[in-house]
Amino acid sequence: MNDTLLFPRQPAEPDDRLAHIHRLLLGHFGEQKPREPWDPLSQFIYSLLSSRTRTETTYQVVRHLRERFGTWDNLRDASLAEIEDAIRDVTFPEQKAVQLKASLEGITQRYGTLTLDFLARYRTEKIRAWLEQFPGVGPKTSAAVVNFSSLRRRAVCVDSHHLRVTQRLGLTPRADAATTEERLMRMVPETWTAERLDEHHQLIKQLGQTLCTFSDPKCAQCPLLKLCPYGRKRMTEGELTGDTEARRTKDEPSLITNRQGTAQLQNP
Ligand code: SF4
Repeated sequence: MNDTLLFPRQPAEPDDRLAHIHRLLLGHFGEQKPREPWDPLSQFIYSLLSSRTRTETTYQVVRHLRERFGTWDNLRDASLAEIEDAIRDVTFPEQKAVQLKASLEGITQRYGTLTLDFLARYRTEKIRAWLEQFPGVGPKTSAAVVNFSSLRRRAVCVDSHHLRVTQRLGLTPRADAATTEERLMRMVPETWTAERLDEHHQLIKQLGQTLCTFSDPKCAQCPLLKLCPYGRKRMTEGELTGDTEARRTKDEPSLITNRQGTAQLQNP
């Protein structure tokens, strides 16, 4: 008789950390306004422009692009200088103008017309691989397109806020966006729909923008403090030094940018 039969394996405990975090954040920030999904191409353009740029600024730039060019075909056919001028309010407009024009031209060449609606026929992994062939498109952008757009597939969009928060919470130590998403997806309850994952992303982003900020996390006010090793350590150090809003710890992760322009965290 082998060991497996003598000592039958206990089923692994389900990892309910994300569900718990989700409930606490909902309790703190309240219900999130449901998104009205855009078509995949509009979401693609938004997401390509959004890295390291404030959400409201990116929305404003996309609104401006619609007004100025009328159609995405006109945007594709505009000169690089025109595109760069139209998106000058986002970060790295020069680089993003090149990526945007090349991507729009690439989509047209491969599909025949400028649309991403046809992706609805593909499996999620195939959609993401298809999108990531274009310059500047990494896992963050492909996840945003499949999850936030009318495609509405299951994915976690790991932006710089998501990376920072999940690393501080000890959910995903020292990983890039792709690895972080893979690890998070293993913890996502099977019952979570694409809409629930979108809501989770919104809650984590709100936390990252308001409390778990890069340089000055407000751990004393955070609903996740009890679960957060980084926050608890920070608070303990603050108590020892008499600093009520604890100082940055010496192992504060810092943001680096990978070769696709996606922000990722790395300890010094
Ligand atoms: S306790 Fe502090 S470090 Fe942890 S998630 Fe909250 S704000 Fe971020």
